[in-house]
Amino acid sequence: MYEGVNASEGIGIGTVVVAVEPDLSFEPHAVEDVDAEKARYKAALDVFCEKTNAQAERMKVTVGENEAEIMSGHIMLAQDPGLVDGINSAIDGGMCAEQALVETSTMFENMFLSMDDEMFRLRASDIADIRTGILAELLGREVVDLSALPAGSIIVVHDLTPSMTATIDKENVAGIVTEVGGRTSHSAIIARALEIPAVLSVSNACGALHNGMTAIVDGINGHVISEPDDEMLSDYRERAEVFAEEKRALEAFRGKPTVTADGDKKVLACNIGNPDDAKTAVDHDCEAIGLFRSEFLFMDAKELPSEEEQFEAYRSVATTLKGAPVIIRTLDVGGDKEIPYMNLQKEDNPFMGYRAVRYCLDNPQEYKVQLRALLRASAFGDIKIMVPLVTCVEELRQVKALVEECKEELRTEGYKFNENIEVGIMMETAAAANIADILAEEAAFFSIGTNDLTGYTMASDRGNDKVAYLYSWYYPAVLRAIKNIIVNGVKQGIMVGMCGEAAADPLLTPLLISWGMEEFSVSAPSVLKTRKAISQWSKADADALEEKVMKLKTAEEVKAALEEAAR
Ligand code: PEP
Ligand code: MG
Repeated sequence: MYEGVNASEGIGIGTVVVAVEPDLSFEPHAVEDVDAEKARYKAALDVFCEKTNAQAERMKVTVGENEAEIMSGHIMLAQDPGLVDGINSAIDGGMCAEQALVETSTMFENMFLSMDDEMFRLRASDIADIRTGILAELLGREVVDLSALPAGSIIVVHDLTPSMTATIDKENVAGIVTEVGGRTSHSAIIARALEIPAVLSVSNACGALHNGMTAIVDGINGHVISEPDDEMLSDYRERAEVFAEEKRALEAFRGKPTVTADGDKKVLACNIGNPDDAKTAVDHDCEAIGLFRSEFLFMDAKELPSEEEQFEAYRSVATTLKGAPVIIRTLDVGGDKEIPYMNLQKEDNPFMGYRAVRYCLDNPQEYKVQLRALLRASAFGDIKIMVPLVTCVEELRQVKALVEECKEELRTEGYKFNENIEVGIMMETAAAANIADILAEEAAFFSIGTNDLTGYTMASDRGNDKVAYLYSWYYPAVLRAIKNIIVNGVKQGIMVGMCGEAAADPLLTPLLISWGMEEFSVSAPSVLKTRKAISQWSKADADALEEKVMKLKTAEEVKAALEEAAR
């Protein structure tokens, strides 16, 4: 069995097809007629863009609008003046077009790779994908074609690039295995959109798996099994059937209100990173946006996005949600989220350092650009402002004072905005959990960020394998922190939600119901599953389980008790 990242749920059983990348080797040579060489590059680039455009059109139909935009993004990136000028000046220096392309694009790729953030690593893989495409055109070779695979194929490939995915006929593909990529890589996003089970980052998959082998891709647990015996095959066939049945059954929850077994109404919201995600969230039947991670707007840009650019993005989400609540978190830079053009200094302990609201309050002029954009967009829907990484009430007060300053400016300038815009807190530090009663008096709402709250409460860095066993919300310390936040928020009469990954954990659902949490904000594919989990618990049953679980002393006992109750 091989282990990897469970990137797209489901179980695929089929026959391995190892997709071999084309041989794109060439002899670098000096050129004399640089104008002719630049024209040769331009011709290859034009053909590449034409083909990519055709792929994007096809993808709109076979995969979806959002995923097709990844291909359109390739065209923009290939035509980026920085890249094109770099290649032309390398040719001016006497390099052949192939070498100019490889050297210039590799320089850009390495620049993106040197940045810690996942978004920039995505850009690096886009650049590599574009290089392969243009180089194939220059050399007159074919790129991997996955359009004519036999039914029941398991694609095994080093990296499934968006351009390869564009050609996939999903009916014939039972599973995907790659050697690189994480849950947020483009291959993962596309595999999920196509609903093909996928396990990524399986080391040496292309060497270990061979054409014609039978393989099982377990996208639920991140396992790949080659040449399974009969017993294993029938076990996995059964699991595949159970998965398919569960998925069919979830459709019964589409379009339905989110209510507990005894009819208590909850809100099922989605977490998003850009305005397009808002459309996907609505397609997946969400009722609100519980977290818009605004830093993605900043990561996608080359410089700080202007008030106008931010306003357009926030307004677009508000309009897509047609009046339903949209919680927008102000810039959460720092920690593991690096934005290169902001030139923040490297710190020994970035998670304890100059991050999120700390940075913003230290740079009020920059912060006000975002607050003004949020206020202006509030005229187009129910936008709420959420402050990340709060540890003391002073921070909330300072943000609210800046919001008031911005309101005053906008009034003078004649802009419309929601005078009563809510300013709430992302409850994600141990400090905030401890003073939830104090914060509840001054915050309009709470949203619990369990991703950070778990790490900060347990003093455990999720990225560090040696202490990963401590990173779990089943520890009594984390549960007590969550309970303290919800109970104090409810007591004060403010809305309390959760937007960390724990919101989609069905084992926690009864505890959250017992404490009175109102909003569950999850990723789009988890909407129906979470609505179902909520529907299964009455307040009385949830309270009984809560009483039992909160007396337990270890995470293992807690998890076992919650699992037993879920059965
Ligand atoms: C969280 O910390 O739980 C959260 C939702 O925010 P992020 O994952 O962006 O830090
Ligand atoms: Mg966080």
